[in-house]
Amino acid sequence: MKVLVTGGAGYIGSHAAQRLLADGHSVVVVDNLSRGHARAVQRLREHARNGDRLGFQHLDIRATDTIETLIREHRIDTVMHFAALTYVGESVEKPLDYYENNTAGSLSLLRACERSWSHAHGGVRRFVFSSTAATYGEPPADRVPIREDCPQNPINPYGASKLMVERMLRDSVAAAARSGSDFAAACLRYFNVAGADHTGLIGEDHDPETHLIPIAIQAAMGKRPGMTIFGEDYPTSDGTCVRDYVHVEDLADAHVTVMQKMTTGTCVAYNLGIGRGYSVKEVIAAVERVTAKPIPVRIGQRRAGDPPVLFADPAKIRAELGWSASWTDLERIISTAWEWMRRNPEGYGR
Ligand code: UDP
Repeated sequence: MKVLVTGGAGYIGSHAAQRLLADGHSVVVVDNLSRGHARAVQRLREHARNGDRLGFQHLDIRATDTIETLIREHRIDTVMHFAALTYVGESVEKPLDYYENNTAGSLSLLRACERSWSHAHGGVRRFVFSSTAATYGEPPADRVPIREDCPQNPINPYGASKLMVERMLRDSVAAAARSGSDFAAACLRYFNVAGADHTGLIGEDHDPETHLIPIAIQAAMGKRPGMTIFGEDYPTSDGTCVRDYVHVEDLADAHVTVMQKMTTGTCVAYNLGIGRGYSVKEVIAAVERVTAKPIPVRIGQRRAGDPPVLFADPAKIRAELGWSASWTDLERIISTAWEWMRRNPEGYGR
């Protein structure tokens, strides 16, 4: 297939691009590099077996006309849409940035797809969207593990900005079906994405870093003096929050599986997680074991908007598409992140 990967210079998008290339697909990455790294794409191009099938456009997804031209010129049939701002805290501070980039950006991209249906090659037929478990907000305890039919009530602008896109996709698929256009969409609701490409070529490089596993590894490496556990008074077994950590290569695998099995006229949603949760303390202990280094920890206040327990019920995608996570061991997941950060202590470099 010929796949446009928006946000392909970012953490998850670059791993998806790597997997698509490995499977023999052609990839055009579109990224405005506001958060992504041109070097991630460069490394894929230089080291992937068929890196010559990877194109890169330094472009914002809101450039509808240019995106439409790209779709036409590269005969794109599939869009994987990762480009987004993804910090919950920042979304509370700057909600309009999130609605502009994530919601309006997706609208603009979708508009280019819609226009492409009149192209000679038939245009974009499949749209795979990076959604998030943040669309569920704070589900009541009896809805965890979370199924896809759990009510979606996001509690921050990040989750809301993504939920609106899910709605746009549902409506666009329905309209396309009515007008006889060949179009399908999938909304993949990620839980906590972790780890790095097992060959060590690409990985996670956020600035600032806010995620638990890379922060714990940085603390173990002595790159920060220590770390803070955000709250120890949650109603969980050890008082800290519980999350579902899914390996980024499994996530890429899920995207490819979904892409290959999409049915025209449908807009599906799947949770992507391993189906079990680990507490913050369990994660920190696992990082200590993997790195064989102690991590200085202090207990701090709860972080606003953190639900106590979030983990997926991944039964739907397993039953319908036969996909389940293959990396289910937390230490193995963490070791890939550790390997990446050890080999690339400055990430992609600044
Ligand atoms: N967390 C923490 N200290 C940190 C970073 C994260 O205690 O320095 C906690 C956070 O409160 C949450 C869990 O670790 O309960 C996972 O947070 P992360 O930001 O990695 O992902 P999120 O669940 O927010 O998507």
